[in-house]
Formats: sequence, C-alpha cells, structure tokens
Amino acid sequence: MKSRWSDADAAALVAELAPRGVPEALALRVYTSRLLGAEPTLVRHGGGNTSVKTTTRDLLGREVEVICVKGSGYDLDTMQPRGLPAMRLAPLLELRAVERLSDEAMVVAQRTALIDPTSPTPSVETLLHAWIPEVVVDHTHAEAVLALTDQPDGEAICRDLWGERMTITPYVMPGFHLAHVAADAYQADPAAWGMILLKHGIFTWGPDARTAYERMIQMVDLAERRIGRAWASGSGVFAASNAVGAPSPKLADVAPVLRGALAARRPGVLDFRTSDAILDYLAGQDLGRYANVGPVTPDHVIRTKPRPLILDPADLSPAAMNAAVEAYADAYRAYFERFNATAEPKKTALDPWPRVALVPGLGLFGVGATAGEAAVAADLAETTVSVVTDAEAVGRYESLLEGELFEMEYWSLEQAKLGAARAKPMAGRVVAITGGAGAIGAATAAAFAAEGAEVAVLDLDAADAERVAAPLRGLGLACDVADPASVAAAFQAIVGHYGGLDVLVSNAGAAWSGRIGEVDDAALRASFELNFFAHQSVAKAAVAIFRAQENGGCLLFNVSKQALNPGPDFGPYGLPKAATLHLMRQYALDYGAEGIRSNAVNADRVRSGLLTDALIAERSAARGVGEAVYMAGNLLGREVTADDVAQAFVALAKAEKTTAAVLTVDGGNLAAAVR
Ligand code: ZN
Repeated sequence: MKSRWSDADAAALVAELAPRGVPEALALRVYTSRLLGAEPTLVRHGGGNTSVKTTTRDLLGREVEVICVKGSGYDLDTMQPRGLPAMRLAPLLELRAVERLSDEAMVVAQRTALIDPTSPTPSVETLLHAWIPEVVVDHTHAEAVLALTDQPDGEAICRDLWGERMTITPYVMPGFHLAHVAADAYQADPAAWGMILLKHGIFTWGPDARTAYERMIQMVDLAERRIGRAWASGSGVFAASNAVGAPSPKLADVAPVLRGALAARRPGVLDFRTSDAILDYLAGQDLGRYANVGPVTPDHVIRTKPRPLILDPADLSPAAMNAAVEAYADAYRAYFERFNATAEPKKTALDPWPRVALVPGLGLFGVGATAGEAAVAADLAETTVSVVTDAEAVGRYESLLEGELFEMEYWSLEQAKLGAARAKPMAGRVVAITGGAGAIGAATAAAFAAEGAEVAVLDLDAADAERVAAPLRGLGLACDVADPASVAAAFQAIVGHYGGLDVLVSNAGAAWSGRIGEVDDAALRASFELNFFAHQSVAKAAVAIFRAQENGGCLLFNVSKQALNPGPDFGPYGLPKAATLHLMRQYALDYGAEGIRSNAVNADRVRSGLLTDALIAERSAARGVGEAVYMAGNLLGREVTADDVAQAFVALAKAEKTTAAVLTVDGGNLAAAVR
C-alpha cells in the first residue's frame, strides 16, 4: 500500500474550506479521512473512523478544547467538515473515572458534549479517540491487518511483524469497555505509533493528520508484505483445489429461483458478483469450514449476518433452494434462542433470512430489501472472500466466538445504524417498463420508484433509458421490443442485475393510421409487430422469470381507448391494441393459478410521443376548439397527464386480488367505457 498524500491537494482543500471558517487542522483531518476512504481495502460502507483534537471559540469568544470525531452515517471517502462533529473534550476526559456506563448513557454523554446539538451522532468509538492523548487518531478495518489478526495465533503473528511499533490488545466488544482497554494499553506504551485490535482492526495516531495517515499506510503495507511472503512460500493452496468437471450453473437459471425462494419470505433483490478470486474461494475443499467461521470484523455482522447461505451446485432446483433457505432460517433461530436465553435485557429477534448466498461454480449474491442494501452485503462478502483467502494462506482463518457475534449483532448501538425507516410499499420489488423513456414510461418509472420499487427502464436507445433511470437509481437498458433477441438480452440483464422481476409494464407503442380498406398491408403488419407481437414477446420473457421465482408476478399492458372505441381511420392502431387487450385476458386465464396477474390500462388523450403538440394543434383546430378545451374534452373536464396513467399502473400493481381488469384513465368518456 502506498501513501496518497499530496502537498498540493492538501493545501487546495485547506484553501477551499478556509472561507467557510474551517480551521487548517480540521481541513487536513477531512483530507486524510478522504485518503483513507479512497482505499477500499482499508474501509467500506461507514466502517472506520477518524478524529482530531483542536480548539474552537464559544459564543463569548473563549477558546474551548474540542475533539471532532466522525459522525455515524458518514463515509470517509466523501468526508465533509460537518461529518466530524466537535465535542467539548473536558467532559469526555472526565468520563474515564467512570468504570461502567450503559451504551445509552454513553451516547447521551457524547451528545451532551456536542458544540452544535444538531450535529450527527458521533461514532461509538468516540471515547477511545478522546482518551488517546494524541492530536490525530485514525481507525480502519484494513483487510491485510484482519487477515493476520483473525488467526488462532494472531497475537504472536502481530508481535512478530510490528514489534514495538504497535500495541496489541485482545478482542473486546467496541464501546465503553474497549475505550478503557485501549487507553490503558496506550498508557503502558506511549511511544507506539498505534494499536492493533485483534479480530477488529487497527488504530494509528500522531501529532498531525499526515503523520497518523502515513503511519497507517506504513503499518498496513507491512501486513501486506507479510501476506505476500505467505503466498510466495506456497501456503495458499486455494486455487489448486479448483475441482475439474464441477457443475457450472448459469446465472440466468439460478438467480430467479434463488430470488423467488428468498423474496417469498422477505421481499428483496440480489446483487451478483463473481471473479476468479471468488470462484477459487468457493471451490475450496474447506469452504464449509472457513465460510461459516464468521465475519472478518465485528461490525459486518449487522449487514451480512454471522453466516452465509451456501447452496449445493449439484441441486439448484426450487425445492432444494427452498429447503436450504428454511434450514438456514432454522439454524439462525436456534442461534438466537441459544444466546438470548442468557441475554440481559432480552432481545427482539431479527428476521432469520440470509444476506449473502454462495453458489460454488457461479459466484456470490448480496441479498437486500433494496438494491442499495444488497450491494452493501455483496461488497462486504467480497471483502470477506479477500480477507479469508489471505488468512488461509497465512494460517487458519478464525473469527469471534459465536456469543461475541450475537452480542455485536444485537448491540443496540449497532442496530441503530440500520435506521428505523419504514419500508415503502413496493420496496424489494423489481419493475421493468418498456418504452421507459417516453412521457408515460418515464412517469411510470418515477411513480414506481417513489413507492420504493427498483426500476429497469427499457427503451430503444440506451442513453435515453439511462437518462430516465439514473435519477431513480434504476437500471437503464437498450431494448428493441420488436426484436426477440434484444428482448432476451434485456431481460437477462435485469435478472443479472436484480436477480429477477415482479412487475412488467408493457408500455412501448406507436400509432399507425389509414382507412382500413385502403391501408398498405406493410403498415398494418408493422403496427401488429409493435402494438401486439412486442407485447407478447416481453410478456413471455417476464412470465418465464415469474415462473422460475414461483412467487406470483404482475403483467401490466398499456392498451388504448382504440381497443374498445375505434376512431375513424385509426384501424391500423386499434386492431393490434384490441388483440393486446385479449392477450392481457389470455395471460390472466392461463397463469392465474400460479399467482400471476395480468391487467391493462386504457388511457386517452395524454400528451406524449404519440399525441404530440403538433397533433394536438391540428386536432383542436379541426374541431374548432382551443387546445386546452380539446385536452380537457371529457366528463371531468380536466386534462389527463402521464402521471395520472402512471398512478393507474401502480394501483394495479398493488391490487393483489385484481386480474383480467381494464382500468380506464381518460377523465371519463362513456363511448370508450368497458361494457
Ligand atoms: Zn472499528
């Protein structure tokens, strides 16, 4: 590992923050926090924390000694001064005289010391930072350090490697007790550059930001070299154990079945990862041992649970996967009961479903209630693969005791990190929208995303699709719905990205017109290709995924008023739309028994790619009325918008007992009503 320090960058950030009243010491603290965060093998997802002791002025202009510590919810790589809330140092130092303190009392004491009470809550490791009498303190969960400390003889390995440079402390639960242990260890050896916390991570410190940072890099570099020597001596035998002729399952087959087994119990999505390193890890003969040992550093446990779900590649049938998921949950419940029996106070059980699934021969899946959560679980699983692989090269991977894991997983302060936000109604559901970059498609994608769904926006042009998907944190894909190969590729990409699909909004369409007795056959056939066969093609692809998931599913078709109430010279558009209305009913009939629903929306007179401003001007002129009057020409006398149509799709997606229905969104028009 190399230092990323740059005098020019450091000076630039000091200059940038100075006009905002940020003193140099804090600006440099922000700078090296970002440098640490830029190294994914040092910290990930809110892991690690940093601090600086400095002074500020109170309202009366008096100088006050403060400590600024990373606030929870902030990541080091994007650190801002606000993410390092300042606390009065004196009351925090006084707490050292207290021997025992509840977690809640500790948090209150930290918040009471805040200079600005609206600041984020400072890290649970605040007191440790405060009680180390050094100006700057850095803490990371460096992978290389973990690979050396997560060993039965981790302490001996560390002493041998770092010698007098680093103090070594045994594993203790983070929080008040650890702060005491660390402060005592510092006092016993104040010349050390930092401290190794066995099975947890590393601290370094110094008189300024650069010194503490460079020491972190140097110490981690030593650990990386030590691991390099272990590999060079041939102790890493992982890759060699790759079994020849082992089954190699396909992502497109495995993902929907796994997602179905998981989402039927807890709605959510998958995030798939694979690489040579992951495949080697999964192919190891001892996978069942080292993968079940526990997390590489304690705070991973709240996002990954103590163990992954390991699937047998020889049998990935729905029955086998459902059984594996249930067996996982049984084991988790037993673990909870075992440790809750002696816990004081009693804990409330968390859901028993896995957050990481391993499929030898294929890769790993992060599992989450949202795409974001799944990505975090997958990232931490990748970190685990990397640390455990190195640890097994050095010796034998070891983690916390099961009771220590339970204590961490059910620690109230860790649970608080997960947030109390209530899940939105469509959270964990995946919705694909064709014609997603058009007016109705984009409004529909936004409406589903607002309900918490993950959205895949499909349109002819990838850039258009991405433009709509990006602000919704969705997936933008090029898809020509009239081309079966393009449809197959797009639906495979959805499965690869989210693990499956729950709702299809088949919305893409275009208008053809012509007097029916005189219209060109080619135009009629072209309209049937897009306005009928393309609906069938995407519905078929979606139903194949729904069936693999064995967890229901929902088809939604954008039909048209034309399907029920033909307009003059509009036959080439209305005929395939009428066939699509029938198609909707056929799906409802043929797949209802499998829980797959099929419904349609009939919208009329909505500003879109089909009803352009030019067409509106032409039609309103032909009827001798103004444009506003033309657009509001319905029973309610109000213009229908793309968002009104989007809300109808969302309502049908949520209407769990409704299938084979048509919902009309036209402001009221009896001639076009279903009868
Ligand atoms: Zn930590």
